[in-house]
Amino acid sequence: MTNSSDAPTPSNFIHDIIDADLEAGRVQKVVTRFPPEPNGYLHIGHAKSIVLNFGIAQKYGGECHLRFDDTNPLTEDEEYVASIQNDVRWLGYDWDEHLYFASNYFEKMYACAVHLVKEGKAYVDSQSQEEIREMRGTLTRAGQPSPYRERSVAENLELLEKMRAGEFGDGEHVLRAKIDMSNPNMLMRDPLLYRIRHATHHNTGDAWCIYPMYDFAHALEDAFESVTHSICTLEFENNRELYDWVIANSPVESEPHQYEFARLNLGYTVMSKRKLLQLVRDEEVEGWDDPRMPTIAGMRRRGVPPEALRNFCQLIGVAKANSTVDIQLLEYTIRDELNMKAPRVMAVIDPVKVTITNFPEGEVDWLDADYFPHDVPLEGTRKVPFSRELYIERDDYLEDAPKKWYRLKPGAEVRLRYGYYITCTEAIYGEDGELQELLCTYDPESRGGSTPDERKVRGTIHWVSATHAKAATFNLYDRLFTVERPDGDAEVDFQEYLNPDSLVVARGFVEPSVAEDAADVRYQFERQGYFWRDESSQDDALVFNRIVGLRDSWAKQQKKEAPKPAASKKAAPKPAAVKASKGQGEKGAAGEDRPNKRPASYERDQARAADPQLAACQVRYAEELGLSEDDADLLSGDRDVSSFFEAALQAYDRPQVVAPWIVNEVLPLVAEEQTVASLSVSPTDVATLVKMVDDDRITTAVSREVLAAVLASEGDPETIVRERGLEKVSDAESLKPVIAEVMARHPDNVTRYREGKTTLLGFFIGQVMKATGGAADAVKVRQMLEQELAGE
Ligand code: ATP
Ligand code: MG
Repeated sequence: MTNSSDAPTPSNFIHDIIDADLEAGRVQKVVTRFPPEPNGYLHIGHAKSIVLNFGIAQKYGGECHLRFDDTNPLTEDEEYVASIQNDVRWLGYDWDEHLYFASNYFEKMYACAVHLVKEGKAYVDSQSQEEIREMRGTLTRAGQPSPYRERSVAENLELLEKMRAGEFGDGEHVLRAKIDMSNPNMLMRDPLLYRIRHATHHNTGDAWCIYPMYDFAHALEDAFESVTHSICTLEFENNRELYDWVIANSPVESEPHQYEFARLNLGYTVMSKRKLLQLVRDEEVEGWDDPRMPTIAGMRRRGVPPEALRNFCQLIGVAKANSTVDIQLLEYTIRDELNMKAPRVMAVIDPVKVTITNFPEGEVDWLDADYFPHDVPLEGTRKVPFSRELYIERDDYLEDAPKKWYRLKPGAEVRLRYGYYITCTEAIYGEDGELQELLCTYDPESRGGSTPDERKVRGTIHWVSATHAKAATFNLYDRLFTVERPDGDAEVDFQEYLNPDSLVVARGFVEPSVAEDAADVRYQFERQGYFWRDESSQDDALVFNRIVGLRDSWAKQQKKEAPKPAASKKAAPKPAAVKASKGQGEKGAAGEDRPNKRPASYERDQARAADPQLAACQVRYAEELGLSEDDADLLSGDRDVSSFFEAALQAYDRPQVVAPWIVNEVLPLVAEEQTVASLSVSPTDVATLVKMVDDDRITTAVSREVLAAVLASEGDPETIVRERGLEKVSDAESLKPVIAEVMARHPDNVTRYREGKTTLLGFFIGQVMKATGGAADAVKVRQMLEQELAGE
């Protein structure tokens, strides 16, 4: 596995074409281009094209040109030219010296037009736009030749020169290719090549008043730059014939070819620059880089990492059939990327004050808190202050809570993350009936999250110290539109579907470590989602944007309202799902097996979106049983797994130990295409094994051995443990002879140890463990060995 978080580039039909071209020697060096028109900011659809084109150049050691297709003076602007370059770079691509402007070719293009006229393959038409359209015919009716079609070459040349010289007004004449007015492809019925437009161009100023049409210009641009594979979206399939005609009939040397792929359509947003511009102009959003926009600039500002966008583009693949990609897939890719990198910290978004009445005033307890859960291969801790006054989330308290409410309620205990157990003794309400403050007591014995008497506390909530926390504004973004296809209805303007709650601004607090860190850290605020600082954020006025929530709450909400068929499955990643186990974790074996990425949750998210019972399981596992997000996710991804888990709980009701054991030991054994139910280990076997470990009867290592034996149908766990004598050996009487024997077998090492080489202790422990088949209690062995070896 690589360190890069980028998904490998999957092959696609364009790669196949290129492979064949290279093999047949039709192409020596692959040249592609990304040709935006600078008439708006780039959106995520463009990202797909960028990843494809630049990706090809990378894969084949070729070139990808960034070419501004700036042939229309009316809509283009320098602001867009700058933003596009910025966005392509941010996405992680480099065009080296290959930055081009179509407008720099105007002179060369004009020469090609003159050539066509001289060859009798183009003519100046003086009909109005209306007449031209009228004469073009329809799909079922051939077109009529223009009355100007047979103008002489000399007359055409003279008119064309005058057009260029500005002697005519807009629309008085056009230059047309002379191809075939009855061609079944309407685009071939004498298409326009040039039109008159008296307008100032962002690059060429007033040098020109005639501008080339897209089909003519684009083919020539590709040819001038020796592009080999000119990749565009499917709408241009019919234009290919004209593209080839232009190349074949112009005085150009190279012969580029056009290939079409399906454009990206994404649910709950619009993707046309015209519509995005409309949202900006109507001030429905704060600008092109508003974090709700599907623009690259918007996503960057929101905090989406460029790797996530690249991975998304790889995941959706390149195909020839148009489809709409489920926006959940984008959200999944973002979460997946952030999950592996974002430090976990605490923030309270909708705060209510908590006073710990038995905690001394003015005192502070600095608690240790991990930045990363155990399955993320990064390390780090910070100190979190605990004091008499805290904030917790307002909705983590419920006065008339149901029996299964495991968060804060009157009289019941809840665990503060990394902190203490607290019990609510009184709730104080304001005159308006709003909850103002909670009075609680804490158990000083519960520091760090457990007590000596191992009292059961199921719920864990996050919090910050009121005295130390930093005030912050949170921008909570949601989808910009309320329906999957806002522009899918010809009758209704897409803006009618704008989501009024696409931005909710909340004011709360973050723990102090967050204010001290670099501004560009993307955090997970525990139980809330992924956030990063908005560019407007100041040290004394922090502002955070929610990049994406922790899991898909939208699907559940939608499900309740109107059941919808699950969206396109096609692009979903393979269900690596439960296959990849978490880190191995046992001592020493520093987890070579540790997967680089957390198992993909997308499939499971999809399953839950389609099955409310599974969705309910996920919530219950996390909130009632207090499982980690990951375990709750992995155990609620399909009915077989959740049933297995619940049956095991029936036999041994300790979710906190049963769940991780199933996740780490059992699920990795389930092969693709198989279900957990088909394993020859039953939920009761699992319960028995977990209980044995929990009761300290066997070690975790032994439990694995027993599991393997059960799978090999050698009996039930109790029998196997008994027959193989695997019970943990921790009584001194049984261990003594083993230790004596080991020492007798290695007299030299005993001497060396006694001469001061105490690092040999590990060697002896290992020998004893080996001699007992892993059944000895390592702590006890160490104690006894230290004594015995020190002896004499
Ligand atoms: P829009 O339709 O949003 O106005 P456009 O096609 O006019 O976009 P261009 O600037 O001409 O925008 O596009 C530059 C390149 O990006 C083109 O090669 C085009 O095929 C590609 N592209 C544009 N939109 C998409 C999309 N949704 N999916 C994939 N590629 C796209
Ligand atoms: Mg375009």
